[in-house]
Amino acid sequence: MNGVANKVNLLGLPRRELEEFVATIGAKPFRARQLMKWIYRRGESDFAKMTDLAKDFRAQLAEVAEVRVPEVVTLQASADGTRKWVLRMPGSSGVEQAIETVFIPELGRGTLCISSQVGCALDCAFCSTAQQGFNRNLTAAEIVGQVWLANRELGREPGDDRVITNVVFMGMGEPLANYRNVLPAMQVFLDDLGYDLSRRRVTLSTSGIVPQIYKLAEDCNVALAVSLHAPNDALRDQLVPINRRHPIAELLAACWHYLERQNGRNITFEYTMLDGVNDQPEHARELAGLLRGHEAKVNLIPFNTFPGTRFRRSPAPVIARFRDLLQQQGVIATIRKTRGDDIDAACGQLVGQVRDRMQYRLGQKLVSVSVQQ
Ligand code: SAH
Repeated sequence: MNGVANKVNLLGLPRRELEEFVATIGAKPFRARQLMKWIYRRGESDFAKMTDLAKDFRAQLAEVAEVRVPEVVTLQASADGTRKWVLRMPGSSGVEQAIETVFIPELGRGTLCISSQVGCALDCAFCSTAQQGFNRNLTAAEIVGQVWLANRELGREPGDDRVITNVVFMGMGEPLANYRNVLPAMQVFLDDLGYDLSRRRVTLSTSGIVPQIYKLAEDCNVALAVSLHAPNDALRDQLVPINRRHPIAELLAACWHYLERQNGRNITFEYTMLDGVNDQPEHARELAGLLRGHEAKVNLIPFNTFPGTRFRRSPAPVIARFRDLLQQQGVIATIRKTRGDDIDAACGQLVGQVRDRMQYRLGQKLVSVSVQQ
């Protein structure tokens, strides 16, 4: 058992690190490239089956390395074609945990919505993941493993064209709070020997951890989505508590910097429509005032309900009016279609199974944040 635990998991190692690893066992860098093709393109996890690698290299690899993917607990299919995986994650305290991954097929594209943490520590008022609390960060292997598993499953049936064309960090967790592991995972998604996705087809969604947005601007060039949800600090402080540390003006400055530095096309601002809370015409006008003249688009998300929430979804005509008001004021706005809600796979409904070990500490942290302001 011990020997197994000590093996290096090759899943999620960016190309340079994989090259360094093969060098430690005396192999040339091109072996790393061969391995990447097997692992990601062909979805192979068994070294013995990697037939164009020398036999003794394969045997050597099996001694010291492995391709270890998360274990699937359940796979559910929605009436609209959406699929949801529940994946087992060993918990930091030895207690079993689970995370969720969702595949959303659309005409001409397939989006995989992945998780970056077991639970989430940010406590956004209208998100069911937040209610679960936070347990731990996922490793790069566990992040990339979600794509590996979905890729293998989706391409299995003959004539199955539900391939993954887009990956979005919109599952459980705050990706910028797990920067150390999210960055290498994204490098694998973008690498032409990895999943070969274009930078516009990998989207990192963040609640607005401002210093990490500046860091990301230096390190990677994926598309950025920002969970805004309110047009002023008073309201955003309530809905997205990280706003008490990084208020809207600071957040937007980081966003415009990111676009400039990465030569990006635009930033998507996510805005969950909460009945009577943030969906009034004055909110739309205030929001337009913040974004007009910038490369921004707003994605309105009808609130998805979950047990115990005090929020309700805005009525469809209210959402449509909000969109129209934004458009009239020169801001591009779309309404996100709700998918997979019959299997609790819609935005904000992912709960997995999280045994929180931080809830009390987090409560204290947030209090001290608001005192600092
Ligand atoms: N932590 C990241 C990813 C979160 S999930 C972030 O905050 O961006 C992706 C989007 O779903 C976010 O914009 C999130 O605020 C939104 N969301 C969360 N709960 C929701 C709910 N119950 N209904 C609709 N959208 C929700």
